[in-house]
Amino acid sequence: MSDYICIVLYMISCVLFIMGIKKLGKADTARKGNLYSSVGMLIAVIAVLISQDVIEGGFVSYLLIILAIAGGSVVGFIWAKKVEMTGMPQLVALFNGFGGLSSMLVAISQYTAGVTEDAFTALTLGLTILIGAVAFTGSLIAWGKLAGLKMFKKNISIPGKNFINAGILVIAAMGILFLCISPDGGLGLAGVIITTIASLVLGVTLVITIGGGDMPVIISFLNALSGLAAAFAGFPIGNTVLIVSGCLVGASGVILTLIMCKAMNKTFASLLFKTTKKKAASAAGEHKEPKSMSVEDAFLILEAAKSVVFIPGYGMAVAQAQHAVKELCDVLEENGCEVNFAIHPVAGRMPGHMNVLLAEANVPYEQLKTADEMNPQMPNTDIAIVIGANDVVNPAAINDESSPLYGMPIVNAYEARTVFVLKRGQGTGFSGIENPLFTMDNTVMIYGDAKQTVSQLVVEFEN
Ligand code: NDP
Repeated sequence: MSDYICIVLYMISCVLFIMGIKKLGKADTARKGNLYSSVGMLIAVIAVLISQDVIEGGFVSYLLIILAIAGGSVVGFIWAKKVEMTGMPQLVALFNGFGGLSSMLVAISQYTAGVTEDAFTALTLGLTILIGAVAFTGSLIAWGKLAGLKMFKKNISIPGKNFINAGILVIAAMGILFLCISPDGGLGLAGVIITTIASLVLGVTLVITIGGGDMPVIISFLNALSGLAAAFAGFPIGNTVLIVSGCLVGASGVILTLIMCKAMNKTFASLLFKTTKKKAASAAGEHKEPKSMSVEDAFLILEAAKSVVFIPGYGMAVAQAQHAVKELCDVLEENGCEVNFAIHPVAGRMPGHMNVLLAEANVPYEQLKTADEMNPQMPNTDIAIVIGANDVVNPAAINDESSPLYGMPIVNAYEARTVFVLKRGQGTGFSGIENPLFTMDNTVMIYGDAKQTVSQLVVEFEN
């Protein structure tokens, strides 16, 4: 009887997940989407707790489940509370990784429990281990790179990496083949061990050579993998909600990956398979120093502006300057100036990072324009205010073929009549390369913490 109730509950949670995802697509319904999905997850957990297998396991089953939930909740709660907004991508990378690890462990435990009586189950178990393990170690490497761990500071290259990766993939596939040929024999056990080890290594070799600006796309790809691993894990344990939710995560991860590739003008294949060339030494030209200006002088120019475009980046998130930016936006509008925001799809450290921060500061959605929408208007813009952005406004992406950013669409800040760049000093951006925008004739640097600079500009307007 309880299994029938479980099936109905699983169906309800699947519907809630799908409705939740739909609502997450728009900023104004996103909160509702989150709520729907959370309720769906709660129902799925209740369904597991009243399922026949768990009831039959008795007290020990419930004790283990309660211990796991309590341990995970405490660690998750503390971690999520402590993490800064700027550390979110690292946290997401870890979540993906642990998702992959748990799918891998579920598959191995199902194998040791002896459920692999047919080739189809063996195949799904093998694929779960393969994809889960790649998502796990790949995400750990992505986390290390984003957290700026010392060992990942330098670009790492593996000679012949495509051949090596293909070789490791073939070994992992052989392991799956062994498992399918002899699901419950010694060959099958060897297959599980081979697939697990090869896949764990593959996650490392696949991600370790990918660096800089490509990391956001890789995180979303790893997210898709962790979803796929969960979907495959649903087959051997016969859990429909896991299959459906895994497919939803996998599909949305793939869609996001492709959208981001398009935004960065890259193909997904080039991202995974390209071999990093050593960066050509830049031509020995004259070294120009950027011009800088005080906040007081910048105010005089800003006061006369009729159109201003804000271009936020990672530094705005670090400085938590979004509320001050909204105040500046308000005083500029009171002064008769037209204000817009040009949001680059990979500005900050996670997709939608800038939109979330600016929405939190109550900047109207209509003012948050994409780079594509704002670029044609840039030559008619009096002042482009670059707030803690660097890579996403780097003209080398357009005109320097030797630049690692070459080909990535940017916000064309350099086309504005005047460009104010608000940053603390001469630090490079995430990709670690110089930005010729800073030394252009129409650019002035306003050095300092973005929040302080913007707040001082607001004070100047109010005086
Ligand atoms: P960047 O990382 O290129 O540049 C940020 C700039 O902010 C730095 O040059 C820094 O200069 C400045 N800064 C830091 N702290 C402050 C502060 N308190 N006040 C003022 N300025 C500050 O940012 P972008 O947003 O332009 O580009 C994002 C980059 O991150 C891209 O390369 C993208 O590929 C990558 N990325 C994006 C992800 C995403 O999903 N959005 C995920 C992972 C990576 P200084 O030190 O001189 O102040």
